[in-house]
Amino acid sequence: MNTELINRVKNTFQEKFGGTPAHIARAPGRVNLLGEHVDYNDGFVLPAAIDRATYIAFSPDNSDQTTLVAADFNQGASLSPQTIPSKTQTDGSPLAEWAHYPAGVMWALSTGQLATPGLNAVYASDVPRGSGLSSSASVEMAFMIAWQTLGGWMLPPMQRALLAQKAENHYVGVNCGIMDQFASACGVENKLLLLDCRSLEWKTIPLPEDLSIVIADTKVRRALTSGEYNKRRAACEAAVQSLKEDLPDIQSLRDVSVEDFNRLAGKLPQVVSKRARHVVEEIERSKQAEALLEAGNIQHFGELMNECHVSLRDLYEVSCPELDVMVRIAQSLEGCYGARLTGAGFGGCTVNLVAREQAEQFSQSLAKSYETETGYAPEIYITRASTGAELLKL
Ligand code: ADP
Ligand code: MG
Repeated sequence: MNTELINRVKNTFQEKFGGTPAHIARAPGRVNLLGEHVDYNDGFVLPAAIDRATYIAFSPDNSDQTTLVAADFNQGASLSPQTIPSKTQTDGSPLAEWAHYPAGVMWALSTGQLATPGLNAVYASDVPRGSGLSSSASVEMAFMIAWQTLGGWMLPPMQRALLAQKAENHYVGVNCGIMDQFASACGVENKLLLLDCRSLEWKTIPLPEDLSIVIADTKVRRALTSGEYNKRRAACEAAVQSLKEDLPDIQSLRDVSVEDFNRLAGKLPQVVSKRARHVVEEIERSKQAEALLEAGNIQHFGELMNECHVSLRDLYEVSCPELDVMVRIAQSLEGCYGARLTGAGFGGCTVNLVAREQAEQFSQSLAKSYETETGYAPEIYITRASTGAELLKL
């Protein structure tokens, strides 16, 4: 819990709206340990909600007008159900890009006939933006909690996650899978979450107490990533279409075994084959994860993380030199079981599984060597699996 941020949203609320907020909610970012770029292929993912979050202070407005302050941008916006379709504010001016996330949540809730009464809200976050830790989902899930609290309705966390994904897909216009919103909504303290992206069934897997999740932000952000992301999705779809000629029952790459893939890969165009191989093998890796973690075989699980990085680098081609440097250094340090890029790629963060006793030393050495090699000062967070989006007790 970041009490400094909680105080900040409270104080800003006081300044902007007068009085203390009726409620404060928090919704975490997430990090994915295994199963990368498979959520949109019906695969399995293994994320955890992290102890970095968006905090929102809010009160009912007793009208249908919602007034927002994004404290991190020092900007405000005002919206209502009437202004949502035109993506404008109540004064007719266009909604800023950042406001599309809360507005999208309002839109998605309205498509489900769920009330979004007017609220006054101030929010701020310690999830770094655009670095693969899902700051966008954390904003969406924070607003889900706010409207659920005041709207007189209640949905299970997975249903809230699905509506937030709908907001991001169709209102914001980002073609994300379900993992981000799921992890932010359903996080459990000290547990990894194993989600079947097809059935949406999920379970928790305990993370041994003597391990730390260390996130290392390369501080590099590549442009054009959404275009590349869409190309990867298209390649996966092309592979399914082509493989269907021999495997008529498949719906997605989830249904293709490694054995069948090896037999048929030759008929795919080379690039499509590389992309699809990553997905098929990554789904196989993530299937092994549960038994390994249950058995406490962290060594082997870490090796799967390392293999995942090689596959993202060489087959899916979503890494970049700085991510590769960060991973290489991490893997050479004491106490590190596994390291790989996490999130969509092309910059952003790596995730590392590290012996808790060594996490501090690991982080310092990693930061130092990375900066020496690349010239970028990285940001390293020693984090832990945390609770999902929630209303805080004041
Ligand atoms: P990420 O990987 O962090 O989710 P995205 O590009 O999907 O990156 O989402 C980042 C966007 O989410 C920001 O550009 C902004 O519009 C919105 N956002 C994230 N954090 C905040 C915040 N603290 N305040 C306002 N908007 C935010
Ligand atoms: Mg996002």
